Parts: sequence; C-alpha cells; structure tokens
Amino acid sequence: MTAMQANGGSGISDVTATAATTGETSGGEAGPVGRLEAATAPTDAAALAYSDAGATGVDGLDETRKFVFAEEWGFSRVGGDLPDGTTPATFADMFPERFFAFNPLRAVTAVALPLVAMAVGYGWLWYMHSICPAWQQLACAALIGTAYTGLFKVAHECARFSFLPEAPRLQDALGLVLMLPSLYPFTSWRLHYIHHMAHLNMLWEDTFGWHPYTKLQLATELLCGQHWLLALRRLALTTPLKLFASVGHWLRSFDGLDLKRFHKDTYWAVLAGWSGPILFLGFGIPAIIKMFGLSVRLADRAWGGLVSGYLLPWLVFHFWLSTLSLLQHTAPHIPFRAEDAGYDSGRAAICGTVTVRLPRPLELLLNDANYSLPQLVAPGMPVFHAREAYEYMRERLLPYLTEATLSVKLLTNHITKWQVYDAEKETYLPLDEVMQELERDIATLMEEAEQAEEEEKVSGGPSGGAVEGQGKRLAQLLGAQLKQYISEVRSISSSNAAGRGALGSGHTPTTQVVTGQQTRSHAQVAVQQATQQHLKVVVPAIRTDLVGAVSMVSDGEKVEPGVFKNIDGHRFDDGRYQAFIEEITKFIPKERQYTDPVRTFAYGIDASFYRLNPKLVVKVHNEEEVRKILPIAERLKVPVTFRAAGTSLSGQAITDSVLIKLSHTGKNFRNYTVHGDGSSITVEPGLIGGEVNRILAAYQKKHKLPIQYKIGPDPSSIDSCMIGGIVANNSSGMCCGVSQNTYHTLKDMRVLFVDGTVLDTADPDSCAAFLKSHKALVDGVVDLARRVQADRELTALIRRKFAIKCTTGYSLNALVDFPLDNPIEIIKHVIIGSEGTLGFVSRATYNTVPEWPNKASAFIVFPDVRAACMGASVLRNETSVDAVELFDRASLRECENNEDMMRLVPDIKGCDPMAAALLIECRGQDEAALQGRIEEVVRALTSAGLPVGAKAAEPRPITAYPFHHDAKNSKVFWDVRRGLIPIVGAAREPGTSMLIEDVACPVDKLADMMIDLIDMFQRYGYNDASCFGHALEGNLHLVFSQGFRTKEEVQRFADMMEEMCYIVATKHSGSLKGEHGTGRNVAPFVEMEWGSKAYELMWELKELFDPKYTLNPGVILNRDPDAHIKFLKPSPAASPIVNRCIECGFCESNCPSRDITLTPRQRIAVYREMYRLKQLGPAASEEEKQQLAAITSSYAYDGEQTCAADGMCQEKCPVKINTGDMIKALRAEHMKEAKSASGAAMWMANNFGVLNATVPRFLNLVNLAHSILGPKPLEAISRALNAATNHLVPVWNPYMPKGAAPLKVPAPFPAPAASSGGIPRRVVYMPSCVTRMMGPAASDKETASVHEKILSLFNKAGYEVIVPEGVSSQCCGMMFNSRGFKDAAAAKGADLEAALLKASDNGKIPIVMDTSPCLAQVKSQISEPALRFALYEPVEFIRHFLVDKLEWRKVREQVAIHVPCSSKKMGIEESFAKLAGLCAHEVVPSGIPCCGMAGDRGMRYPELTGSSLQHLNLPKSCSDGYSTSRTCEMSLSNHSGINFRGLVYLVDEATSPKKAATA
Ligand SMILES: Cc1cc2nc3c(=O)[nH]c(=O)nc-3n(C[C@H](O)[C@H](O)[C@H](O)COP(=O)(O)OP(=O)(O)OC[C@H]3O[C@@H](n4cnc5c(N)ncnc54)[C@H](O)[C@@H]3O)c2cc1C
Ligand code: SF4
Ligand code: SF4
Repeated sequence: MTAMQANGGSGISDVTATAATTGETSGGEAGPVGRLEAATAPTDAAALAYSDAGATGVDGLDETRKFVFAEEWGFSRVGGDLPDGTTPATFADMFPERFFAFNPLRAVTAVALPLVAMAVGYGWLWYMHSICPAWQQLACAALIGTAYTGLFKVAHECARFSFLPEAPRLQDALGLVLMLPSLYPFTSWRLHYIHHMAHLNMLWEDTFGWHPYTKLQLATELLCGQHWLLALRRLALTTPLKLFASVGHWLRSFDGLDLKRFHKDTYWAVLAGWSGPILFLGFGIPAIIKMFGLSVRLADRAWGGLVSGYLLPWLVFHFWLSTLSLLQHTAPHIPFRAEDAGYDSGRAAICGTVTVRLPRPLELLLNDANYSLPQLVAPGMPVFHAREAYEYMRERLLPYLTEATLSVKLLTNHITKWQVYDAEKETYLPLDEVMQELERDIATLMEEAEQAEEEEKVSGGPSGGAVEGQGKRLAQLLGAQLKQYISEVRSISSSNAAGRGALGSGHTPTTQVVTGQQTRSHAQVAVQQATQQHLKVVVPAIRTDLVGAVSMVSDGEKVEPGVFKNIDGHRFDDGRYQAFIEEITKFIPKERQYTDPVRTFAYGIDASFYRLNPKLVVKVHNEEEVRKILPIAERLKVPVTFRAAGTSLSGQAITDSVLIKLSHTGKNFRNYTVHGDGSSITVEPGLIGGEVNRILAAYQKKHKLPIQYKIGPDPSSIDSCMIGGIVANNSSGMCCGVSQNTYHTLKDMRVLFVDGTVLDTADPDSCAAFLKSHKALVDGVVDLARRVQADRELTALIRRKFAIKCTTGYSLNALVDFPLDNPIEIIKHVIIGSEGTLGFVSRATYNTVPEWPNKASAFIVFPDVRAACMGASVLRNETSVDAVELFDRASLRECENNEDMMRLVPDIKGCDPMAAALLIECRGQDEAALQGRIEEVVRALTSAGLPVGAKAAEPRPITAYPFHHDAKNSKVFWDVRRGLIPIVGAAREPGTSMLIEDVACPVDKLADMMIDLIDMFQRYGYNDASCFGHALEGNLHLVFSQGFRTKEEVQRFADMMEEMCYIVATKHSGSLKGEHGTGRNVAPFVEMEWGSKAYELMWELKELFDPKYTLNPGVILNRDPDAHIKFLKPSPAASPIVNRCIECGFCESNCPSRDITLTPRQRIAVYREMYRLKQLGPAASEEEKQQLAAITSSYAYDGEQTCAADGMCQEKCPVKINTGDMIKALRAEHMKEAKSASGAAMWMANNFGVLNATVPRFLNLVNLAHSILGPKPLEAISRALNAATNHLVPVWNPYMPKGAAPLKVPAPFPAPAASSGGIPRRVVYMPSCVTRMMGPAASDKETASVHEKILSLFNKAGYEVIVPEGVSSQCCGMMFNSRGFKDAAAAKGADLEAALLKASDNGKIPIVMDTSPCLAQVKSQISEPALRFALYEPVEFIRHFLVDKLEWRKVREQVAIHVPCSSKKMGIEESFAKLAGLCAHEVVPSGIPCCGMAGDRGMRYPELTGSSLQHLNLPKSCSDGYSTSRTCEMSLSNHSGINFRGLVYLVDEATSPKKAATA
C-alpha cells in the first residue's frame, strides 16, 4: 500500500485518516451495541441495557440510561440515531453563508499562531541549549509537535481545497510546504480525502480513514499462523502505542509511490506531491544531522539535535494525529457497515463522528482540528469557521451528536476496550476475547475436519485422504465458515485495490487539482460531486435552541434572512430591531425596554408549554404609547405581541420578536367607570378580572343597590388574568357558557389598529371618522360578510360551531350575526378572540350579569361516563341550570384524598372503573327561584331514567345526592373542581410539563368523544390524564403530564395531537379549543376543524387588518404545519420546591417585585434555565456558557436580592409554592460560601444586646442630622452609602423612626392577677427587637413607642404583664434567616423559645408578640408543642381577650389599614379590619398584597417598596394608617404621605378601662 493511500482518508480532524487508520494495522474503536455486553462483560445496567439497543444506535435507551452509558465510557453525551432513510449531504445548506466566507485575518492567524509557538519552542531550546533539563526539552518538543499539528491541519485544508479557494496554486504550494516536515505526500493525501468523503465510515471501503482491524482479518492471520503479526498487533492495539498508530499509517503511505494505483491524468500531481517528503528526507534530514548531530541531550548543540529538535516533535505530531483520529470516529454505537449491508452516509457522518473538546488553548494551537464534523458535511467550509459552525450545528442537531472531553478515562477505554471489530455483530471486542473465541472455533472445526477425514479414509472417500493443494486442504479442514472468511478477505483486498486504483480516474476533483482551477465553490462542488451519490437530504428530528426550547424539525427548512413569514423561528435581527429601538426610545425610556438575557428569557414564557425568546420587551404605560409604537412596527416590519397577565395556555402570549407588556404601574391601563346601577362597566385592559368583580361588589355595597353585578366571563384564572387577555382570548368558564362570554356581553370597545388609528365604538364621531378613513378595510370586511351570508352552507357551519364553545380560529360568527350595514359591530366582534393579531384593545365596556346571592350545589355520581354525559345533555336541553361540571374517574380519584369531599359524597371511594360525576349549580334571584330551578333539575334527571350511583350494581335515587344550600359545603365541591388542574400539575413526574387541552363538542356527542379520548390517552400511555370540564357546554379539559426531553416524547405528543384533533374536529365535529384560544397549539389544525373555505376566509380577514403580519404572527394562523411541535418548553427537574410549578402565573399579581425585576413565576423559570444550562457541563457551547454566565450574574439582583421572601406568591399559587423559600435556600447556599459574613452574623446574634442598645441612639443621631442638614443631603448620603456597600446601608427617608424609648419592664403584681372565666389576667409580652429599637417617626404627632402603647392597653384591661428574661438580647432570628444566615437564625430562635417557655410557664400563659412578621417567624420555627397555641398576634389577642374588658369609642372618621403579609397568611385579615372598625367609622384597606419591606430589605432596596406601593391609592380624607409591623409602617408612610403606626396606637386611643373589669 502506498503512503498516499494511507493519507487520504481524512483530514486532521480527519487527521484521523491516520490513526484509526492504522488502517489494517490499527483498528480498535467503538462498536455498536449488541456485543458490548459480551465484549466487556459490563456489570452495570446501563451497559446491559445498551446491549439491547440494537445495532444501529442507542435509540433504545432513555435519556437517563444514555447518560449513565456515556459516563461509563467517558463521553459527555451520546447521540441518538438519525431516522431511517435520512442522510446528511445537503447539510451544507443548513449553514449560513458566513461559514463559507474567506477571512484573511483568520487564515493568517491559522498559520502564524502555530509558527510563533514553534518558534517559541525552538527559541527556548536554543537559548537554554547548554543547561536545558530533560523535562524542558520534552515540554518544548510537545509545544513544537502540537503547533506543527496545527500547521498540518492547514496543509490538510489546502488538500481539501478550502483554505485559499480563490488562489488554488498558492493553496497547493502552501499545502505541499506545510506537509513537508511530516513526510506525508500532499497530493495523495488530497486524493484519499476525496475517497474518504465518499465512503465515510464504510466498512472495507474507508480503508484509509479509520478502517478497523476486523475479526475476519484476525481469523485469517490465526489460520495462516502469522503469530509475529499477531504479536505486533497486540503491541499496537492494546498498549498506549495505539496513540501513535499513525506512524504505521505513515509507513504504509509509501505504497503510494506505486503510480499504477492512480489515474494517468494525476501522475504529475502525485509525483509533485511526493517531491516534498522526498526532498525533506533527502536534504532536510541529512542537513539537520549535519548541523545539529544526533544527540538527545542538548549539551553542546544549539538546536538540540535531530532527536530533540525533530523526532520528538514528530512523535508528538503523530500522537495528536492518532489520538484525534481514534477519538473522533470511535464510540460504541458507531457502526462500520459495508455498502450493501445497511450503510447510511447520514449516520456515518452525523452519528459516526465524535466531537472531542480540548482545553481552548490547545484547540487554538491545533487549529480546531477536533471540530471536523461541519466540514465532513459541508466540505467547502474553511477550518477557521469549523468551531463556530459546530456550535451552530449543535443547536440544531444536538440529539444526534456524540461528544466527549479529552480525559484519561476516555483514552484508557479506547485502548483497553475497543480493539477488534466484529462486522457481523457490528461491535468492537477486546483482542483477547476474540482470540479465544476464534481459537475455540478453529479447534472445533479442525476436530470436525479430522473426524471427517478419518471417516473418508475408512469409507475410501473421494480424496482417499490425500492432500490436494493447500486451498482445498484448508477448505476441507475448516469447513464452509472458514471458506467464506477467506473468500471474503480476498474479495475485500481486491475491491480495496480496485477502489484505490480507481482513485483519480473519472473523478473530476482530481483533474481539477491538477489543473488548479478551483474556487471556493468549485472546491465545494468538487467534493460534493465525489460524495453526493452517497449523501441524501438531511432531516434532523429534534433541536434545542439557546433558551432550551425543543422543536421537532421534519424537513430541511430554508431560512430566508430578512423575510418574516407568518411562522416562528425565522425572525433574525438584520438591523430592524436596532432601528425600532432607536425610534421608540424617543418616547419610551430605556428603563422600560429590556433586552438582557434574564428579562427576555423571563418574558419568553406564558402559562403554555411553548417558549419563544423575545428580542425586546417594552413596558407600555398607556394607549398613546401603543398608538405610536404600532405604525413604527409596521413600517420597520417588526412583529409585536401584546402581553396582559400571560396566563394563556396555547402559546399566544409569547414571541421571538417584540413583546409589548402592559405595565402594572400605578393606574396605567387600570382605570374604570361603573355605569348606573352597575349593569355595565368600562374597564381598561390591565385590570384583573376578579378585581373588576370586586369593584362591582363594592359599588353595589357602597350605593346600597338591589342587585350585585359581575362581568360575564368567568375563567378559573379570573383572579390573575386581565381584561386585555379575557377579551382577546374570548375566555369563559364554569358558569358563563357561550351566552355570557365577552362576544355576547361586550357593549363597546376602544381598539387600536396596526396603523395607529383608534376606533372607539362608543363614540359615534370616532366610528364615522373610521368608516371614512378606513374605507378599504371596512369594505373588505363587509365583502367577506356578504360572501359568507350568501353561502348557506358556510353560514350553517358557523352557526353550528358557535352554538358550542369555540375559540379555534377567528370569530367568524361576527360575519353572520350582524347586518352588512353595521360594519362597526362586525369589526368589534371580530376583534374579540383575535388574540392580539388584529388590533390592540385599550378599553372595553361590558354589559355585566347579575350575581344572584342564592345558590345551591349538588355532586351526583353516575356508574359510567356515558350516563353522566347524557345527564349533562338532558340538563342543557330541558332546564335552566347554571353550571354543570363533569368529573371522569381519574378526577374522582383525586376527590378521594379530600376529607370534606368524602364526608359529603362517601360513595366515591370504590366507584366503578368508568364512573363519573356531575357537579351542578343552581342560582336564583331569591329562594323561591332557586328552589324552582333545583326541582326542575331533579325532575329532568329522574325522568331521563339514567342510572345513578357510584356502582352500577347498587343504583341510587337522584335524591341520594342532595343540593347543598350551605355555602361551606358548596365551596368544598367547587374548591375540588378548581383544584383538579393543580393537583395533576403538582403530582406530575419531575421533568415533565403539565398540558391542558381544551376541546368541545355538541353536548349530545360528549359521551362518545370522552370515551374516545380516554381510550386514546390510555393507548398513548398518558396514565395520569384526567378529563373534566364544563359539560353543559360540551367543553372538556384534558390534563396530563408530558416531557419534551427526547424525540420519542415529542413524537408521542405529536402523534397524540394528530389523533386528538381527528377525534374532536373530524369525528365529533367539535372545537379543538373551547375557551383557551388557538394560539400556536392548534394553529396547524384550524383548517382541519373548519375546512378550507372558512380557513382561507380567515387568512383574508387577517390580511385585511394586518397586511404585513405585524401583529402576533404565528398565532391563530400559521403556515407551518408543525408549529404545534416547535419551541416546546422543557421543564427540567431543578429542585423539589420548583418542580411542581406549572408556570401558570397566578402568583405574579401578588409579588412586590413584579415591576422592578422578576415575578415568582419568572424567578422559577430562570432558575430552571440556569439549572438546565449548568447540567450541560463541558458539553455546553460557547454561546450557552455565555448565556449561563450572563443569567447567573443578573439573577443575583433580579432573582435573589429583590425578592422580599415574604411568600405572598404562595397565597395565590394553586400548587402552594413559596418562591421566597427557594430564594432563601439560595441565599443560605451563598452564605455558606461567604464564611466571614456568616461569622459576623453569628457574632451579632451572640451579642444582640449591643445592637439593641446602640440602634436607638444611632437613630436619634440620624434624626438630629436630619433636623440640621435637612432631608435632601441625608437622603443623598445614604443613597451613596447604599450603593457603595452593595445595599448594606439602608436608604434614609423622612419617615425613618426615632430611637424607641427604653422598655420599662412592669413590676409583677403583688397579689395574684384577676381572672375572667377562671383564666387569670396574665400575659407574656414579647416586644420585638424592631419595636424595642424603633420609635415613631419624627414627623408623627405620636411620641410613645409601640411597647408603651401595648403596656398601657394591658394595664387598662387589668393584665399582669410578664416580660421574658433577657429581653434586650432576644430576637426571633428573622433578620438572619431572610439573609440566609441559617445558623445565626436557628441560634436566636432557640434562645427565644427557651425564654418564652420559661416566661409562659410552659405555654400556660398567653404570649403576645407585637410584630406580625416576627410572630410568624417564631411560629414557623418552634419545636415545643406547648407554645404552639400560646402565641398571639396583637390583633388576635385583643379580639379574643380584651374587647370585652375595655370601653370602646370611635375616635376617627376614616382610617387606612395595611394588614402585613404575615398576618394575611395567618388568616387574621378580617379580624384586623373588624378591630379597626371598633375605633373608626370607616376603614380603608391599603389593597396592597405586600408592601415589599420584608424586615429591612425595603430600606436597603427602596425600589422594592417603591414598586410595590406604587398602587397605594388612599382617599385624601384618610388621616391615619395602621398596621402591625413597624418597618412596613415606615414605608407605607413614606409612600402615602400619612403616618402609619401600630394598630395598638389606635386601639389605645379608642379604649378606656371598664369599671367592672378593673374593680
Ligand atoms: C390554570 C389555568 C386555568 C385557566 N382556566 C381558564 C378558564 O377556565 N377559561 C378560560 O377561558 N381560560 C382559562 N385559562 C387561560 C387564560 O387564563 C385566559 O385565557 C385569560 O383570559 C388570559 O388572560 P391574560 O391576561 O393572561 O392574557 P395574556 O395571556 O397575557 O394574553 C392573551 C392574548 O391576548 C392578547 N392580548 C393581551 N392584551 C391585549 C390587548 N390589550 N389587546 C389585544 N390583545 C391583547 C395577547 O397577545 C395574547 O394573544 C386558564 C389558564 C390557567 C393557567
Ligand atoms: S409558583 Fe405557583 S402560581 Fe406561580 S407560576 Fe408556579 S405554579 Fe403558578
Ligand atoms: S416571596 Fe414575595 S417577593 Fe419573593 S417571589 Fe414570592 S411574592 Fe415575590
């Protein structure tokens, strides 16, 4: 074999050619699967499981087992298999043009950097020649050899035409010169590279790439008794010499001197290629010897002699050549197949290449020789783009890629585990094992042959025992199996020879090499031509983008830069976003524009299971801003998406372009006007639905109106979602049905169109102007309506579809419901449910619906789902029932865990397997009306003769399930119903997402549809799926968990969706979305549901309103048939606290930091993302690493520091997650690392008395400074100190307290305390450290401290007060806990507990703590059960014990109250208001969930309280405010301008001793 042949097989990435190359001499790499078990006798489950995976890859393994497998063998990830019949080749098309561009700077660097490194190595050898120790010589040789490998890579690139494509002659010359010291011939290398590309990883054919040493060859050698060869093989394959195997390859390369192997056209080129090594051997080497000698030592030779200066670096070069080759095409699941044995060039390239990461400096020196994969699929790509191109490719094809980081483990495995390739089993086996196996086989065959010979002799057989030639003798001896071995070997040798001989002949590239005509594209074409017959179109199956979103990619999608179609994933920044930002910055300040990785990521999620990362998030404050933005967006072709509360479930509130978020700030988008008696209300889109209902309730109460109203739509998310979303999604819920949704209850609307025009349908002038200015649009809409109304079939379809709930596609009913001469009504109604794709709704006027006070609910169980559904149908057709909710068997199982439910409906337990239930609600204006409806329901169900009862075998009458008029019992039913989604969500397997589908069909088909769906879920293995929903409307919610971790999981989802859509839309003529909106989730199925005619009509509608697809493109209508399986949101299992989060967003409106940094949902989502990125480990791309670094750094402030850790998010979370706990845990982790801070905290905890004594003095000093300097300088100084100390020093404000008066511990009563009802009037009073240190504000007319007021109150009530011992050193530990100092907090908590136990006589005497958050902290940490019921918040204690012992009078007209979040969580909000009501005529709640103070955090991060209290809107007539947390009071005062103080101040003022009590 010639040297040329040996070279061609690869490039240095291909360097490769060599190592494995060892061709027939080396071998030993990965083998597939099947045999691993036997080969290496794996002891772990992973490897065993792997052995089941089949020969073609690891697809049989789940992700975990792949991970374990990779760990075992030393890979950082193992890629799955490409689907059958899919092959790369035109992968080249995947890469943007920039990856093929010539870059002179990079090209020069690729040559210069290794040259400089070599110069440094040689320079050092020369400089140190007389004293250079051996280790330094070796180090220099390593540097020189490694750097030369980098140069060789350049030579290799020249050989593959891609280094200087525009200067082919120069390229050839450069390649030849650079290859010269390696003694490899340039042209042969080139020819073999082309051959190699066409036969990548092909058994027998890719002989010069990494052709393995096969079992067959070993058998032949054994039979021929070539034991010397075997000994050599053992040495080369099973020892570290394997890592220098390319030396053997180099030796073999000399057979390339045999010109007969090449086409005659290439002779000259081949000879020219040989000139390099020959000249170097003939002149270079002798010259080196002559000049520098042969010395190993450098003692007297400047260049260290031939050995140090040349041979050692040459070996280092071979080390890299061999090692990279070996590693790059060696993994257990990489098969070598013969062309006719299932060879697949796609797999061979994508799945058959391992990318090995090296330390970056090494990669630089080696010219990224380890990133060969992109060049294998895109041969024209220059090496200086290879690494970047690999990362690009990785984003799209990660699931198929195998990666490793260079490690001892990896190398050891390569040497010890993979040596001989068994082509039959497609695996590598250890040499010894194969030897034993073969020796056994041969012995058996020999025995059989001898036996046969004996028999022949006895019978006088054909040969008569004589030997007739060696071949026959062997065949006779070894039988058919061996015969086959040998013939195969012969055929292989000859085919190799033929193949090699053909090289250059008929291959255009060779001729082109000689003529030197190539350009870059020529080069690409040339190499592709050589390979194209083997490489087919690539169909990547799954990809993960930078933000973790997973997409199923089913075809080679073409991205046209700059063309934003109505599909996602194509919106790249080509300068338009910059232009957009510049324009909007003229009227929207930068603080309201977010482009950073954390905020864009955080806003890239809504409650759906899709994720798109916006390029820009803009918080808008008012209609005017939106009005200005829209025309700019349209002009610059920048798509925009509106976001209200982001609770949408179908992916309609996200975008990869610009997200326009309605600000929560102040009154922005939150104004309202109640009209008349409340039967209509005008609201802005930022108001939460539940808030609107509370406004209406308060209005009715205030004006003492007979009827209370509410808005019609009642989605179960009503306490979180906003009017903008409710209108745009046409949301509905349990009771509103179709008749009370927005479409049917909206009176008027103010809407902004994409050109910035405003239409106010309540204003006749606005309507008239619009009709005139937008004639084309109006005419277009009227024309559509005319066409529809003229089409009876279409009209009937539309009417039928909207008789039930339907939010699939646009509200086409608007085209049939209104006359052609009323286009404004048509337009208004088309906008409803358009999901922000036609216009922006800036105001809505609802006709409200009565909220009847009389209600009753029944929970009726049926033995099978069909009976339950028929029941719903009967109720719909024959009664005027208000709500009917269906529970399937899976949902009933959840009820079994609810004690109250089991008390009310005990027979649920053990009900039949297909049992179901109906939750029915009747309402009435008065009792009589209610009773009438109930009777109607009972009558209808009874006369329908349906089986009733939990078991078919035990029928029960309808009356066995009575209507409950008691609100408490009804609440049990409805709470269970509302809890179904969260229950499934919380119980799902970590790492999966919770999905909610929302289908509807005519009620009489509900049973059939439901049975089909239950069956479908079972078949697809969705074992946790529950079906329940609004049966009265035929609307079902399908809730189940789904992972998007593997392509199988995505595929299962895709398959299920296809079938579900068929069942619902086609088989049962239903709606794919009853109320959640089309979004991205069913956009590809709109046509399936509606048919082509209606579907095309929808496109026309969209184009009339938004011709350039500026408004929320990709939503409702999407040209991508796979939009539903793209940009799927992963839900990595990150921590037990957050795993349950379903990202519904319900918690957001309670969070004090939502307007400055992140909301709880976003904190969790970003935390999950950081976790995901960290998990990638070294396999993460550079971009991912940068993303992780950027997110981590921003999260410190956005996530951690600005979380008040008050846990108010938990109050609204359906799965009860306290994000504050997660943040506190993070803080504690960080504090563990910050040892000095923890030490300081512990010191402070141990010396708390010092703090207690110092702080009041310090506060007085600050107050003095205030009176001398005035407020401004003090605030400025404190702000500067705050910034300089990283928020350690609080920012001063005018309501900062003075120091508290010293606590006067009351003397014990001389005689036993009086008792009431046998309970002595004794109380333990524990003043918190805050009230011991902080007095009232200087501006407050009150001068006494909280403890003085409390003591005064106790005194008036005749209570003996016991103050715990050592009170001045006590603290509940909260200030330590909230900062993450767990140890200090625990120490303080334990001290206090001991003191309270003692003072309260082991919990017998009630204990009052005057600060709510401190009490909550103590309650959360006490270990002594006796204390559990002894602890009281002041409000609770006064209400329980003092109200009847004091005289009360109202001392204020109107006061404000703010119930601290800890008190809210303790459930005393109502008591608080009632107590205040004893002291004032009117009590106004602050309406703020949490003020954001969180101990002193709000002082150190004043932006937190600023953001939270921006909504504080107290009436001007309010003179005072009251609370039960001193720090919260301070910040409330600061933001409201009135003095807030402890409620005890008011109570003390409003009370006087009762004579009887004090007597
Ligand atoms: C657990 C859970 C239960 C749910 N239950 C129900 C239910 O019972 N019934 C139901 O119908 N839905 C339900 N939903 C879905 C969702 O809450 C509702 O659709 C809700 O109305 C969305 O309102 P939002 O404020 O969150 O809007 P977003 O999600 O922010 O936006 C919704 C759509 O409206 C567009 N949009 C927002 N503001 C405007 C505007 N001013 N002008 C024009 N377009 C705008 C957005 O671009 C988006 O397309 C539920 C969601 C969750 C998470
Ligand atoms: S924390 Fe709770 S409320 Fe918030 S998004 Fe997660 S599940 Fe929803
Ligand atoms: S603990 Fe408070 S500040 Fe932190 S996420 Fe929850 S609500 Fe927001």
